[in-house]
Order: sequence, then C-alpha cells, then structure tokens
Amino acid sequence: MSASSSPRVAMESIIAKPRSGWAVQPNLLDYDQTYSTFSWEAERKRLTGLPGGAGVNIAYEAVTRHAAGAAGQRIALRWLGKSGQTRDITYAELDRLSNRFANVLRSLGVGRGERVFTLAGRLPEQHIVALGTLKNGSVFCPLFSAFGPEPIRQRLARGDGRVLVTTAALYRKVAGIRDELPELQHVLVIGADGAPVTAPDSLDFQNALDAADDAFDIVATAEDDMALLHFTSGTTGMPKGAAHVHAAVLMHYLTGYYALDFHPEDVFWCTADPGWVTGTSYGIIAPLTHGITTVIDEAEFDAERWHRILQDERVSIWYTAPTAIRMLMKLGEDVARGYDLRALRFIASVGEPLNPEAVIWGQRAYGLPIHDNWWQTETGGIMIANFPAMDIRPGSMGKPLPGIQAGILRRLDSGAVEQVSEPDVVGELALRPGWPSMFRAYLHEPERYAKCFAGGWYLTGDLARCDADGYYWFVGRADDLIKSAGHLIGPFEVESALMEHPAVAEAGVIGKPDPVAGEVVKAFVALKDTFEPTDELQRDLLGFARKRLGPAVAPREIQIVASLPRTRSGKIMRRLLKARELGLPEGDLSTLESPLS
Ligand code: AMP
Repeated sequence: MSASSSPRVAMESIIAKPRSGWAVQPNLLDYDQTYSTFSWEAERKRLTGLPGGAGVNIAYEAVTRHAAGAAGQRIALRWLGKSGQTRDITYAELDRLSNRFANVLRSLGVGRGERVFTLAGRLPEQHIVALGTLKNGSVFCPLFSAFGPEPIRQRLARGDGRVLVTTAALYRKVAGIRDELPELQHVLVIGADGAPVTAPDSLDFQNALDAADDAFDIVATAEDDMALLHFTSGTTGMPKGAAHVHAAVLMHYLTGYYALDFHPEDVFWCTADPGWVTGTSYGIIAPLTHGITTVIDEAEFDAERWHRILQDERVSIWYTAPTAIRMLMKLGEDVARGYDLRALRFIASVGEPLNPEAVIWGQRAYGLPIHDNWWQTETGGIMIANFPAMDIRPGSMGKPLPGIQAGILRRLDSGAVEQVSEPDVVGELALRPGWPSMFRAYLHEPERYAKCFAGGWYLTGDLARCDADGYYWFVGRADDLIKSAGHLIGPFEVESALMEHPAVAEAGVIGKPDPVAGEVVKAFVALKDTFEPTDELQRDLLGFARKRLGPAVAPREIQIVASLPRTRSGKIMRRLLKARELGLPEGDLSTLESPLS
C-alpha cells in the first residue's frame, strides 16, 4: 500500500451547502432521493439513439443530434493556441468536419473496430479525429504527447494501431519506430500553421480533410461495440488497453449532468490532456453530449494565462487536477485577485488525492470549494463525486453517482472477498459491475481482465474507507502503481526501459512523495560488473530514460545501488525500496531472498 494519509476531518470543517437560493439550481438537489429512485431504464431516454433505432453511436449523441437547427450554430469548441491564435468551431461545423474525417478513413479502407490512434496534444483536430473515427465504427485511441518513442511503440503495437494522426513536431518520435510497426498502415500529419508536411510515407491531414465529402452516414454501431481504447499502466506487465463501448456515452452524459452540473449555457474547461482518459471522456465527449461550449487550451500550465482564460472565456465550470491546484496554491490566496471570475460557478478535480487544505483554499481564492471526484481508466466515467448541492467533507472523494454501487472489501485467507459492513474500515474499493462505461476487456488479455473481478465486484486496486454517512475516503493504492502529476505510471514499463541500457543489470522503480506532483518516479539500478558508478554514467542513465520514455514517464532520480532486494521467486521488492527510501518500517521480510541485499 502506498503511503498516503486519510485525514479524519473535524465536523466543523465540513463545508455546508445551501438548501435553496441558488443562482443556477444544481441538477442534483437531493442526493439520497435521486440515488434511491434512480433507474437506468429511465435515464437511457436522455440519449437520442441512431435514426430509425439503428443503434447507439457516441459521435451521434455528442455532435450530430445538435448539428441541425439552432443548436448547430452554438460554439462547440473554442480553441486557444499557444501563440495567441483562436479558433471557434460550431456544432454544425464539427459535425461536417468529423464526417469528412470519417470519409477519409473509409477511403483508406479503415473499417469497423480498427484502431485509429492520435498523438497530437490539445488541438481541435483531436475532436475531429475522435468523432470521425467513432462515426466510422472504428476505435479511437489517444496517446499522451509527452510520451517518448518507447511508450508510443508499445501502445501502437499492443493496440494494433492501423492509423496514426500526429503533428509535424511529434512525428519525430514516430519516425524511428515505424519499421517496428508493420500493422500501422497510415500516418496522417497535421502541419504547423499550414506549412506543408514533409514526413515520408505520410498523408497531409488537412489536404485529406479538404478533399473529403461533407456527408457521411454514421455506421450503425451497437451498444456493445468497441469505441474507445485507453492504455493504463499495470504493476506486473506492460500497459493494458482498456476497451470501452458506445454505450458509455450514457455515463458521459449522466456524469456531466449530476457530477459536473452541466446546464445549457455553460462554458466548460477541462484542463486534462486528451492522451489520458479524462481528456477524452470529459475533454471531448461529455460536454458535447450536453451541447455546451468547451474551451481547449493548447499551452502548458501558466497561472496568469489560466486566470485570463477563466475570465475572458467566461468559464462557468472548471475541471482540473490536484497537481495544478497545488501549483496555484504555491502562489498564494491572492492568485486570482484582479480577474473577473464571476462566471465561474463550479470547480471540480480528479486524478489523485486532493488535500483537504486545497478544497478549503479554493473557497478563499475563488469563493468556491474544489469538488473532488474519483474514477479511473477502467470505469470510463466519474464514479464517486462531491456534488454541487451536497455538503463537502474536505479530503473525501464524495459519494457514489446515482446508479453506481460502491463497497469496501476485505480479502479472506481463502482468497475470496467479503464486503465490510462497519464504517471507517480500510479495504479495497470495489464497484458492482454493469454501469454503461465499464471497460469490457483488456485488449488481448482476458486473464488480466478476469483478475479484476471477484465475488460479484469489480476491484479497483485502490484502498479506501467509507464513513458512517456514506462518504468515501481515499487511502492509497493497493499496488505499486505511481501517480505523478495525475498520470498513472507502471514501474515495470520504466524498469524495462532502464534494463535496455548496456550498463544496467537490474532496476527497481518506486513513486517518491512530492509536494506538488504527488509522487515523482525514482529508480534504483544495479550495474553490470564491468561498469563503475560514476556521475557521468548516472547522467547518461537519466538522459537515456528520458529519451526513450519521454519526460512524463522517465525517472526524475536514479540511484545506483550494489543490488536490489528481491523475493525468493525473483521479484523486485519495490515496497522495501520505498520503505527504505522513506525511512519507514520495512514490514514482513520473510520472502526476501537475502535480507542483506
Ligand atoms: P487513471 O486510470 O490513470 O485515471 O488513474 C486512476 C487512479 O488514480 C485511481 O485508481 C486512483 O488511484 C487515482 N485517483 C483518481 N482520482 C482520485 C481521487 N479523487 N483521489 C485519489 N486518487 C484518485
């Protein structure tokens, strides 16, 4: 279990919400009543469905159903380029552009179920590709643009990538690995500011789009057809491809309604990168299903720029992450002074533990508390949340969404699981399967998928407790996964890359606590006999890892050690490395191969 605190909050620090007098009345006013009367059957009516009852398609619910009539002229996307450019795209235009991309795929012979990857950062082309891919019945799989060539290659290979859409700048990371990806048949490159694309064996994205037709008949996808593929890290193996289906769109819509409180006039800003699940479920799909305006900012975090965006775009709902909030907190409570943020009415955060101080700091800096919510790649959408009209217990993730049944489980000696009925007992956080955005497979890995379920529950891999009033509190991971700046990193992937360095005999990777990023990646390596531990070698190792893995995944620190602690079965004991790093008790060492190592 990773070290993490689960503060018990004094009753006086509860943030009470008003029972009436709202300027904008929350969609969920009475949690208990909505939760107890919720029916999936009734909620399904919120979707339109493909014309003639032909099926369900995420892109139809997100854009096509709004495109005709007055709603078509509403701004769907307001893109803010890092050099000051802006681009507005209406619902009608987004529908046409995504039709064009669907036609591009069709003309390339890319069909149903085939995987279309992006490596493109925060650009409106992400939305066009995502929606066009879904319209064509193909599967959208976004990659994080800060990945290095190795994580990109791994995911394209494991996901059977047939098409990749990238930018001229990011193509550099792909050029050297194309030979290793025989299934990758088409690469489309988005040029920088209209400059012609020079990548060999590639198509110019804009030219292809310009030449395509505006009209496209959406493929009649069924609820259980695969739509999205998101890679997530595992502790013991390479990244797993979590497959989601078109039915997930109901959850995208409902969580937008209940947890993020979307109303028709809202301007929504999700700061997550589309390379991660939040950037797709909430950066792309959920706000579009509500017909509201989404802001996309191409630039990296900058406090001044962010407040200008909140002010100038009149953002009303802001969905961000604890690392960003902690960076803002460092600048003090006056960080937003001088900006007119009267349009802002709701702030939510996800991805890592949100410190209770951060929740309260939000009130002082913005006049609004930060609403923590919890979910993960596998769940496809928000599962536990602090709702606008529900009192907040700072430090708690909130309560399960209507329709979602959560529980805390203990594992019995027999290996079976049992639900804990007493409050405040720490156990594994679990969910009753069956919600529409639940992942339906780890691509090509049925055993790994089956292992996630026991006793009629989906086991999340997180440790948590539930208090007597039904609020859930995060305690830590039940495994060795690392959360750095909101990004889940598998130690195995980092260790494997380090092992490819000629000097490395073995490597062990842990998450080291960090006041801003939550955790940073730290690696321990033992050298082969012929190598000496010099400063130069250490620098070389850091550079090697960064080049292969990219800055988002590479270790921040590498420590050269004589040997690594292993179990008798040969597994590196990351927990022991971590305990030693943090000066914590070393725990049960009975499986350690040699206690002196
Ligand atoms: P990912 O699949 O990359 O979205 O990562 C999911 C994991 O992030 C969860 O299993 C948790 O460990 C962590 N996480 C997400 N949201 C929260 C939260 N609100 N509080 C604490 N941890 C969180």
